[in-house]
Amino acid sequence: QAKHLGTHGVQLHDPSMIDRRAADAQLSDDLAGALDRGELHVLYQPLVDLAGSRPVGVEALVRWQHPRLGPVSPAQFIPIAERSGTITSIGLFVLETACRQVAGWDGLYVSVNLSPRQLQEPTLVQDVLDVLARTGLAPHRLVLEITESALVDESAGIAMLSEFRAHGIRVAIDDFGTGYSSLHYLTRLPVDILKIDRSFVAELNGTPEGSGITEAVLRLSQVLHLTTVAEGIETTEQAAELQTLGCGIGQGYLFARPLPPAELLEMLVTTAS
Ligand code: C2E
Ligand code: MG
Ligand code: MG
Ligand code: MG
Repeated sequence: QAKHLGTHGVQLHDPSMIDRRAADAQLSDDLAGALDRGELHVLYQPLVDLAGSRPVGVEALVRWQHPRLGPVSPAQFIPIAERSGTITSIGLFVLETACRQVAGWDGLYVSVNLSPRQLQEPTLVQDVLDVLARTGLAPHRLVLEITESALVDESAGIAMLSEFRAHGIRVAIDDFGTGYSSLHYLTRLPVDILKIDRSFVAELNGTPEGSGITEAVLRLSQVLHLTTVAEGIETTEQAAELQTLGCGIGQGYLFARPLPPAELLEMLVTTAS
C-alpha cells in the first residue's frame, strides 16, 4: 500500500519536467569541462549604422559545440552556467576572445554580454581592465551589455557600472523594455546605450500602434542623451521605419547573422569605402 502511494507521488510531477531536469543536470556537468576541451567559440554579429548600412561594431555571441548533441543554444546553456557558476569563467573567456579579435578590426567596437552572476563578482572590474591591458583593446571600444533584471535592487552592480564608465567603457541595457524596472529607476542608471528588444521591432508595421513602444524608447533615449540600438531587424521595411524614427544603429538577420571571424572580416572588406 505504502509502496503504491510512493509511486503515485512521483506522478504528481510532469514526467517531461523530470526529463528536462535530468538533461539540464547532464548539460551542467558537460559544461564544466567544455571550456578546457575547446568546445566553446565566439561569433560576431555586425551592429550597423542605419543611415549608411556600414558596421560600426559587433556583438560577441558565445557558441557551444557539444561533442554528442552538436550545437547547443546559449539561450539554453547560459541559464545553466549561471546557476552552476561556470558563467564566471565562460564570461571571461568570451570577453578575452572578443577583445583580442576586435583589437585587430580597426574602427569597430565590441559589445559583450555580462550575466547577472558576473556582476556579483567583486573582482569583475579589475578582471575586465586586465583583459583590456592584455589584449590592447582601448576601453572606448568595449561595450558591456546587461539586462534590466540584473540590476534591480543591486546597488553593488550599479556601482560597478559607474566604475566601468569612469574607465571609458560603455554600458548598454540589453533587451530593453522586457524587464520590470520603472522608467524612473532607469533614468538614474549609469548607462550609455539602450538596446530595443526585438519583440518591439517585430511589431513595426508602419502604423502608430506598431511603432508606439519603439518611439517611446527613442524619445526617452533622446532626452537622456543615450544611443539606441534596435535588435532583431529582419526586413528592409523595419530598417527604414527605424531610421525614420531616429534610431541610429541596428542589428539583425537583414544585415548578417552572427558570423565566424573570417566571414565578418569578409563583410568588412566588401562594405568598405
Ligand atoms: P542577446 O544578447 O539579446 O543577443 C541577441 C540574440 O538575438 C542572439 O541570439 C542573436 O543571434 C539573435 N538575433 C540577432 N538578430 C536576429 C534577428 O534578426 N532575428 C532573430 N530572431 N534573432 C536575432 P543567440 O546568439 O542565440 O543568443 C541568445 C542569448 O544568449 C543572448 O541574447 C544573450 O542573452 C545570451 N548570450 C549569448 N552569448 C552570451 C555570452 O557570451 N554571455 C552571456 N552572459 N550571455 C550570452
Ligand atoms: Mg546582447
Ligand atoms: Mg539583446
Ligand atoms: Mg534580445
